[in-house]
Amino acid sequence: MNLHELIQKYNVPGPRYTSFPTVPFWKNKSLTESEWKNEIERFKDSFEHSEISIYVHLPYCESLCTFCGCHKRITKNHAVEAPYIDTILKEWQIYLDTFGFVPKIKELHFGGGTPTFFQPSELVRTLKGIFNANQVSPEDCELSFEAHPNSTTERHLQELYEFGFRRVSFGIQDYDLNVQKAIHRIQTLDDVKKVHELSKSIGYESVNHDLVYGLPLQTMEGFMETIDQTIQLKPERIALYSYAHVPWIKGTGQRGYSESDLPQDAVKRALYENSCEKLINAGYISIGMDHFALPNDSLTIAFKNKKLHRNFMGYTTKATNWMIGLGMSAISDCWTGFAQNEKTIEAYQERIERGELAIFKGHLLTDLELEIRRYILDLMCHFETSFDENSEFKYIQLQIKERLIPLQKDSLVEVEGNSVRVLNQGLPFVRNICMAFDLDLMNSEQSKQLFSKTI
Ligand code: SF4
Repeated sequence: MNLHELIQKYNVPGPRYTSFPTVPFWKNKSLTESEWKNEIERFKDSFEHSEISIYVHLPYCESLCTFCGCHKRITKNHAVEAPYIDTILKEWQIYLDTFGFVPKIKELHFGGGTPTFFQPSELVRTLKGIFNANQVSPEDCELSFEAHPNSTTERHLQELYEFGFRRVSFGIQDYDLNVQKAIHRIQTLDDVKKVHELSKSIGYESVNHDLVYGLPLQTMEGFMETIDQTIQLKPERIALYSYAHVPWIKGTGQRGYSESDLPQDAVKRALYENSCEKLINAGYISIGMDHFALPNDSLTIAFKNKKLHRNFMGYTTKATNWMIGLGMSAISDCWTGFAQNEKTIEAYQERIERGELAIFKGHLLTDLELEIRRYILDLMCHFETSFDENSEFKYIQLQIKERLIPLQKDSLVEVEGNSVRVLNQGLPFVRNICMAFDLDLMNSEQSKQLFSKTI
């Protein structure tokens, strides 16, 4: 089967596996703050000697992009900045009190919303509060942020660089003006070029551009021009995301256009195939399902050295089992469990003001889920895994092997004894391969409603 036929066959709804179990299948819908604190307590000793990642969710945006599925709040009132950062710092203090020690932070990411909605001074105040330092050595900790090209100033780039940031990710999506109008996000190539070149001249080592295919009014010609223009700017990393059209999920705001404005399946698949081809011909290495990086970028090096890791931030070069999510809707992960913060700013702030963590739902993993989680993480990051010979869940392993047979027949994956390896042809379909391991999908028809298509 050629790539085109494979895409036709395997383009089905499926999770992106930034976690397992995936959020819709979390069972402890009402995980309490004390259950979460108990989980931290249970692993505190090992945690004290390991390193953690921090994700800070900064939810404000000045205007609504109608394709967006993030947890955000639209406002032009910048008076909200200081109280929000105060709450983040209080939340971090509650975590420090719970740990009883100061953990070593290996990675921190500002996501949103729009982190660059905030004044540079507020972002630096957040960092100083979390690290208790005026700057952080980039060798010790990887610091990165998401930036909107329209609101990123030289001061943002300079002050964050001085603190230790070396990575920035710009949301681009598509340069075609018709698409930009449809998604209510106008940003010219010139403006992006300016902010991109400024980042490079300041010294950022890794600049990422996020592109999205499948957006309303997108055409082959327009999107291929976007890909060419992106290649000319030569960002070290490119994320090529599939637009997930899920207007029925509360809060997405995907209502500014109709389904008939979206490229049909065949066109969307061709957008993906042609984009991949152009990026690979331009020297980018395909990393997993939707990431591309230049050969000397740390993501490519980690991928080649089997050091890639995946968490709620997506692919990362730092493997930590612990991730603390700060801010409204942020998710924390302690490997054996997940906990998500309140999804409205008011509820989040109210809980933190009361001196408690703002957990409103989560999931504690069973032994079987922990085993499957390792397989899926291995596959998503290293494209191979091996079944645990001493597992008490051999019957599940047999079920998984059976579910892998059709994928073996299509030469996407190789199974030999206990080892499973994704073949080159299977790399774009790694999500489909993981789905064979996903216990929740084995018994669920509802997945069609819960996830967007894999391509
Ligand atoms: S795409 Fe980014 S800037 Fe636009 S509404 Fe969503 S979070 Fe805000």
